[in-house]
Amino acid sequence: MSELSTLSPQPLWDIFAQICSIPHPSYHEETLAAHIIEWAKSKDFHVERDDVGNILIRKPASKGMENRKAVVLQAHLDMVPQKNNDTQHDFTQDPIRPYIDGDWITAEGTTLGADNGIGMASALAVLADETVKHGPLEVLLTMTEEAGMDGAFGLKSGWLQADILINTDSEEEGEIYMGCAGGIDVVTTLPLSREALPAGYKTLELTIKGLKGGHSGGDIHLGLGNANKLLARFLAAQADDLNLKLIHLQGGTLRNAIPREGSCVIAVPADQLETLHQRKERYLETLTNEYAVVEANLTLLLDEIETSTPALTADCQTRFLSMLNAMPNGVIRMSDVAKGVVETSLNVGVVTMDEEKVEVFCLIRSLIETGKTYVAEMLNSLAKLSGAKTVASGSYPGWQPDADSPVMHLVRETYQQLFDKTPNIMVIHAGLECGLFKEPYPDMDMVSIGPTIRGAHSPDEKVHIKSVGQYWQLLTAILKSIPVKE
Ligand SMILES: [Zn+2]
Repeated sequence: MSELSTLSPQPLWDIFAQICSIPHPSYHEETLAAHIIEWAKSKDFHVERDDVGNILIRKPASKGMENRKAVVLQAHLDMVPQKNNDTQHDFTQDPIRPYIDGDWITAEGTTLGADNGIGMASALAVLADETVKHGPLEVLLTMTEEAGMDGAFGLKSGWLQADILINTDSEEEGEIYMGCAGGIDVVTTLPLSREALPAGYKTLELTIKGLKGGHSGGDIHLGLGNANKLLARFLAAQADDLNLKLIHLQGGTLRNAIPREGSCVIAVPADQLETLHQRKERYLETLTNEYAVVEANLTLLLDEIETSTPALTADCQTRFLSMLNAMPNGVIRMSDVAKGVVETSLNVGVVTMDEEKVEVFCLIRSLIETGKTYVAEMLNSLAKLSGAKTVASGSYPGWQPDADSPVMHLVRETYQQLFDKTPNIMVIHAGLECGLFKEPYPDMDMVSIGPTIRGAHSPDEKVHIKSVGQYWQLLTAILKSIPVKE
């Protein structure tokens, strides 16, 4: 028996301990899925799977609650497999080893899988616990959320009977989520032509580093420095003045991370070297002044290097630097519905260059579909001006906040009554599966709640024990208060 079984609510912690004992990283959910299906059958629940592997379990209403609106409790089956370098762990074979660490549960050397294992355990505990009162109930467990939301993308219309969906994948007790951003990737490709450097040029590498970086959704409103944009700004301003030639430019590593570092290889006539160094120092002063609050460790390095790569032709260089310098980045618009939340943003995340082409990888996020297309069109217009082309891919819809959502109001009132404080109604500028559910189920009334989880997706992941109890109290109270279906 796991030491987690000493905690309350016991059915939830018991089930969570079992989930931890069965490996279930993304793409390896089958053993856990089979186990849950066997368990549901042994309890005589109706259970089905769809083509993409999502599990649906139905439980009839408690006595006297048959006339309520039907609810689907939803969690994702998979977890992110991350371990410390010095931990021996095979995520497809070895159980997660959770333990109590003061007020928290964490795991030895690995991710815990509280994201979304606690949500999954709470849904299964509602099925198992006969003392919980509820109307017609469904439990939906989705596949591979953490590696592309495969299950949510594959969800068919007409499968769920519920009117209300409670997503259990948010990570802060006291916060109720009523919306999330969708996203789309746009790659801008500009073909390059090159020519040999004129005689008498010196080649140098200019590097920007020490920027904070961060999540391109959650941190986009912080106004952090973007290495790609800051390089373009300097080069676009100095190129003509210094007869500067661009040979190479690269920056960032992931579309969904704000780029922390970037570098370029440039060449200037030998008699401009001194001026270049002065301009670089002045630019560093400018940035240090502008970013004094948010980027205290920003640095610029300028070193002479050798290279035999030819430079971009003058026309090609002007088009590229103008394009990157003019490219929108960061917050485009704030939401009118959710105060203080970003509606639309983009991150100029990665620039890669080879002999023939340069590619700029952007991730656009928006709470509304048209916000995404607006920014994608801006990038397309800019590409047309520059002789480049854009390709969009990987679009997934956001979950547009509905200020009139009945279930959101019910959750808020229930929370207020239980804990005598007002919860925060939140919209997250990152992805949740709810946005995808709206396509097959446009009328589904949705909300997302969860316990407090820290360090999700890292070996430091931990869940706050008391918040799990509060989350369970809230969830069961909501189920009891679901209104009658008209
Ligand atoms: Zn999750």
